[in-house]
Amino acid sequence: MSSSPKAFDTEFIAEVQRESEQNLALCYQCGNCTAGCPVSFAYDYPVNQIMRLVQTGRKQEALSSHAIWLCASCETCTTRCPNDIDVARVMDVLRHMARRENIVSEKAVGAFWKAFLESVEKHGRVFELGLMANYVGKTGRMFTDVDLAPMALRKGKLGLKAHDIKKLAEIRGIFDRYREQK
Ligand code: SF4
Ligand code: SF4
Repeated sequence: MSSSPKAFDTEFIAEVQRESEQNLALCYQCGNCTAGCPVSFAYDYPVNQIMRLVQTGRKQEALSSHAIWLCASCETCTTRCPNDIDVARVMDVLRHMARRENIVSEKAVGAFWKAFLESVEKHGRVFELGLMANYVGKTGRMFTDVDLAPMALRKGKLGLKAHDIKKLAEIRGIFDRYREQK
């Protein structure tokens, strides 16, 4: 973790505000979000400090943090914020920005994200076996949770064939619009 002072990057602040549609200036560092975060113990910066990094325009530190990738998107922070800031959405925006800038600190999580989104774009939903194969291909992590596969197969939780949804074109349109906005 670097503590060297960084320039106050106002463009970065404005970009996070615009993409998350949240007023970051409302955060007064009460720490409620951090107190409720179930994975804060594993973070390099607790979630209120991530908010502070964004408020003070410290782009490099915010985007290269491990916290934004370890976030479980559970939204506890959002429900606990007294100022109605959708903190989970801010974390989500930071992950997308980090991905675009190619500074993903948790490579395996980043690879899972990419495989997940590719599966949704391809089928309109997640095809679990395809997702797993894609993830293994990207990371070489062959045996992650492989012990759960037989039970998941038995319970019908892992389909052997991909089934595209009916309105697949609409889902692909969402991805296209997202890319056009970047
Ligand atoms: S959404 Fe992320 S940052 Fe917020 S409480 Fe859940 S795990 Fe923590
Ligand atoms: S709960 Fe809201 S106001 Fe409090 S530190 Fe977190 S983001 Fe800021």
